Amino acid sequence: MEKIISNYNEILKQIRSCESKLVGKYCEPELIAVSKQFPKEIIQILVDKGHKIFGENKVQEAQLKWIDLRRENSDKKIELHLIGPLQSNKVNLALDIFDVIQTIDREKIALKIKTYLEEKNEINKKKFFIQVNIGDEEQKSGVSENLTEQFFKWCFNDLKLNIIGLMCIPPFGQPPEPFFKRVRILCDRLDLKHASMGMTNDFKSAIDHGSTFIRVGTGIFGERN
Ligand SMILES: *Cc1c(COP(=O)(O)O)cnc(C)c1O
Repeated sequence: MEKIISNYNEILKQIRSCESKLVGKYCEPELIAVSKQFPKEIIQILVDKGHKIFGENKVQEAQLKWIDLRRENSDKKIELHLIGPLQSNKVNLALDIFDVIQTIDREKIALKIKTYLEEKNEINKKKFFIQVNIGDEEQKSGVSENLTEQFFKWCFNDLKLNIIGLMCIPPFGQPPEPFFKRVRILCDRLDLKHASMGMTNDFKSAIDHGSTFIRVGTGIFGERN
């Protein structure tokens, strides 16, 4: 428990100490505490510490933990982000649980989101990122870089989804900087404020390249099984 709090404070300190050349150009980076695979009791430690933004990568796991966590912390303004792939049969459930969905990556998902939010009259209540497959990797989800502009415009202009940024996971085992750079350039071109990029091992470099949401799991909660 003490370890988690000291890890958390250390990450916050490191975020603040990033002397990015971009200071002032983009908004200050927010920390998403990625709590996947950790139980409610552990997450509650950070909630008690005042942390508000959390990330989960699986809809069903989030349902099991966060319905209770939200109820037990209804006085706190928790913001829950889905950072893992979304299947079309889980779209409605995901929209019931998450405030922000970072992984829109195909038309079918976007259309389902639009339909459900219209039904509930909640089209302006949620925020979204488009996931970009920036390394063009076959096994990874995300829209390919050269189709992102077209897909964004369709989601934003035609479906009226509140897309606030782009999200990426650079290829494993390669320096991430060129990928961070390309995603930030794409965000700027599309006039998108937010870039969700950077994890435990590379968040400082992501901030240096204009990330506004870093997603840190291991660095706060420790190793997962
Ligand atoms: C698990 C996960 C993270 C956090 O990774 P760490 O290396 O534990 O910080 C970030 N982003 C996504 C999409 C993840 O699935």
